[in-house]
Order: sequence, then structure tokens, then C-alpha cells
Amino acid sequence: MRSVSPESVFYTPVREALGSGQLAPHSILGSIMQEVTSASRYEKGYILDGGMRHISDRDYFDPKPDVVIYLNITYELSKSRTLSRMTCQESGHIYNTQTHPPIKADVCDLDGSPLIIRDDDNEELLKQRWEIFNRDTLPVIEHYRQLGKLVEIPAEGRPDEIFKDIRSKLNI
Ligand SMILES: [Zn+2]
Repeated sequence: MRSVSPESVFYTPVREALGSGQLAPHSILGSIMQEVTSASRYEKGYILDGGMRHISDRDYFDPKPDVVIYLNITYELSKSRTLSRMTCQESGHIYNTQTHPPIKADVCDLDGSPLIIRDDDNEELLKQRWEIFNRDTLPVIEHYRQLGKLVEIPAEGRPDEIFKDIRSKLNI
């Protein structure tokens, strides 16, 4: 959302929403997604990361996916990953003190900027996000499972193992 260009008709409403600490309204997000994904460079397709958090999102933008990949982990693992996550202050590069530590402690490998713990990476907010996921997003997953479009990947392993698993399930 922060990358919406000042030339876009959505720039002002998105800025206002972000400035007041609100999430941008779904109707605006949907219009932006519609505009972005209709660009000719996405003719052959695209990957949406973390899209469709609520079944009603389709009212504003329906991506009509060929495949939906569900990376499934337990709450305990999600908690341990979230609470060991560090984010680069400059560009948002993500590290994890357990699975992907920086070479030099508390400094980004890529641009040397300080690594910080985001305000929302705490257990209380994680619990809230997990409840919202169970309430709003699991029904989306079940919807695509019934349509035969769901590829469920157990995501307990290392990123390279999970990536390999995705490729093998998609035959690519
Ligand atoms: Zn960085």
C-alpha cells in the first residue's frame, strides 16, 4: 500500500487511511489490485502473497486463482517464529534469530541498517491475528479446498525445504 504512486487516483484515500492508523478500506484495496493486475506484464499470471483474508474480499477483487497455496503451521511454531523475528529499519528485510540470523548481530546483511523488533511482533497481537485468521481466513481456505484448488503444504521445515515441496506439488 505504501508503494501506491502519487499519480494514482488511490493515492489520497490510501494516504489518509494509513495516516490515521487505519487499514486501507477493502473497496480501495480491491480497486488497486484490479488496476495493478490488469497491467500487461501480468498477462501470464502472478502470485498474490497473503491475499484474500476474508471471503468478502472477492466482492472488491476476485483474483480467480488457478491454485491456492496454504502454508500450514501450528500456533506454537508461529509464535516462536514471530517472537524471534527482526526487521531491517531501512528496507524491511526480514531476519530470524533462530532460522535466518544476520551475519553481524542486529545489523542488516544487505544494507547495514539496524535491525529492530516490530511493535506488532508481540504475543498479544499475534494471538489476535491468529483468532482473526481462524475466523475470517480459514473459511476462504476451505472454499478453495472444496473447489479443488488448494495445495496444502506443511510449513514446519526450513524455507528451502518448503520451497522444494511447493515446486514438487505444482510440478514446476
Ligand atoms: Zn536491509
